Parts: sequence; structure tokens; C-alpha cells
Amino acid sequence: MEKKTNILLIYTGGTIGMVKDYQSGALKAFNFEKLMENIPELNQLDCSVTSVSFEAPIDSSNMDTSHWVSMATLIERHYNEYHGFVVLHGSDTMSYTGSALSYMLEHLSKPVIFTGSQLPIGDLRTDAKENLITSIQLAALRENNEAVIQEVCLYFEYKLYRANRTTKINAEHFEAFASLNYPSLVTSGVHLNVNHAFLFRKKKSEKLKVHKRMDNNVAILKLFPGLNQAVLQSVLNTPSLKALVLETYGAGNAPTEDWLINDLKEAIAQGLHIVNVTQCSGGSVLMGQYETSQQLQKLQVINGKDITTEAAITKLMFLLGSDVSHQRFKTIFETSLRGEMG
Ligand code: ASP
Repeated sequence: MEKKTNILLIYTGGTIGMVKDYQSGALKAFNFEKLMENIPELNQLDCSVTSVSFEAPIDSSNMDTSHWVSMATLIERHYNEYHGFVVLHGSDTMSYTGSALSYMLEHLSKPVIFTGSQLPIGDLRTDAKENLITSIQLAALRENNEAVIQEVCLYFEYKLYRANRTTKINAEHFEAFASLNYPSLVTSGVHLNVNHAFLFRKKKSEKLKVHKRMDNNVAILKLFPGLNQAVLQSVLNTPSLKALVLETYGAGNAPTEDWLINDLKEAIAQGLHIVNVTQCSGGSVLMGQYETSQQLQKLQVINGKDITTEAAITKLMFLLGSDVSHQRFKTIFETSLRGEMG
């Protein structure tokens, strides 16, 4: 019987694509052209899987904006041929890439699912096979002649998340990711339990639009007790810096010291966009709740609400690359574009 659902598997690198040579004990890159031979389980899926690999697969610590553009371009080029896309990616920066791609692929109506693993696919105790096989099944999931998932997601250890809501929380556990401010979209048990009410849907008539300009004149500054003015000023005075994610305490609080407030005020007056994001893993910025955030509110600092740092920094790159006017920047940032904030 002909398999009707076509999935494109894109291998970018990371631990998942390694096999152990049991003779030498060494880990070596997996030949993805031989995917079906090496993972015969894939033949049991009722969809057909084609794989492409980055010419030089990388550890995801080496990801940069040009790799994001390569992925977006690959998906754009093959968009009409496939029903869904699975991207194999190292877990270290997967939340950044997933967030970036969610902005770059506007009006998506097909699934793009990022996955990887903590142990190589050729390891005896690997988590790679379950992650890979279920990701493919999720990418192939259809109802009423359309894809169930129509957004950029991340699948790891029995859970499918909206990618731009995730953070890597553990370097050791198989459960390496969390989405603390948004429920998981699918839980994989004996059945795939889809949380339909939380799925993202674009406006029906819009066609895929791929954005390829990401402006990396951005920075992240995490507050800590004892931060001194010289460090703050060196960040704020970085040549060409256009936007800054300020990781504040708790519900968006910062010291009320005059030097800090004045330096931020000066930077904003010079045109720098500053976003207030909490350094807590979960919860939201509530500007004005405490005296320690009222001044930031008065300075017109952008409210990052419950966005993750990964989704905030990539949103800045995306908006700066999209020629959003200076006046509208704050309003657009504070608007949820792909379900990245509440
Ligand atoms: N360092 C690896 C990477 O992010 C870890 C992994 O694949 O999970 O590429």
C-alpha cells in the first residue's frame, strides 16, 4: 500500500546523530542516508520519511543565525512536497532555534517538530528512538484532511511543547526541557493525547511567509546583587547595540538605585529597546506591582510578561530584522505573535 503522508527529516547535528562503534567504543556520526536500514522500526510507520542532512552537522552550541536561515530556507523550498517536518538538533540551543523558527515561519499550517536526545541513537539505553519515532508520528498526525499540529514544536521525553515556550532545564535527565508557562500540547502514553484547546492556529487564508533577516545587534544582561555600574555601562554602550533583554528578579523587579535607573533612561533616550524578562523559570513580569518595577515602567521599558529569555532574544532579532518602526516596536513586542507570551 502506498504511504500517503510524507515527512521530511532534517538532520542538523547534535548527540542524536551518533552511533557507537562497539568494536572501538567511539561515537561517530550516523549516516542519515542509511536511516531506514539502521532504524528498521521506521518502516512500520504508515508515512514515508525522506532525510536531508546539513553538509557539516554541528553541535548546537555552534548554531547561529545563518543556520536558522538555512533551516527556514530548506522548509520553504520543500513546503509543498511534505506534510510535516522533523528537525534533529542538539538539545543545548534547541529552545533558541525553535523560538527563532517560530517567528521566521509565519502563517505555518504544517508541523515543524524539533527533537534530539541525551544519548546517541546508537547507544543501548538511548532516548533517541522514542523521541524520533514519536516526533515523526506527531508530524504525520492528520484530522479532517489537515495537520493536527500547525506550529513549531519541540518533542522530548513523552511531551510535545510549543517550542517558543521551552527552556532546557537539565543537562542529565531524559526530561531535559520544560514549558513552565504553557501546557504541553501532546502527551505520549499508550495513546497520543492531544491538548486541542492549546494548539496554535493561523488565520485560514494566509500563505506561508518566510522571514530571513535576523538582526543580532542584541544582548542579554542578567541582574545580580552587586552588579556594578561599569559592567552595566559597558553593555549599554556596546557599539551598534539596538536591543537588550534585561533579566530582572521575580515579577520584573530591579534595584531602585539612581545610577541604574539613570543609565537605563539615557540608553532608552538614545534609542535602545529594553525588554524586562524575569530570571525565574516560570511566572510573569508584572510591572508596577512593586516599587522596584515602577521605575522601569515609567521609563517605558518593554514588558516581556511571561516570555522565556530564549523567545525574547530571538523575537528582538526578528523584529529588528523586520524594519518595525521605533514607535511601534514596544507595542508589537508586547503582542503575542506565535503564542510565545500570554
Ligand atoms: N552538545 C549537544 C548539542 O547541543 C548536546 C545534545 O545534542 O543534546 O549539540
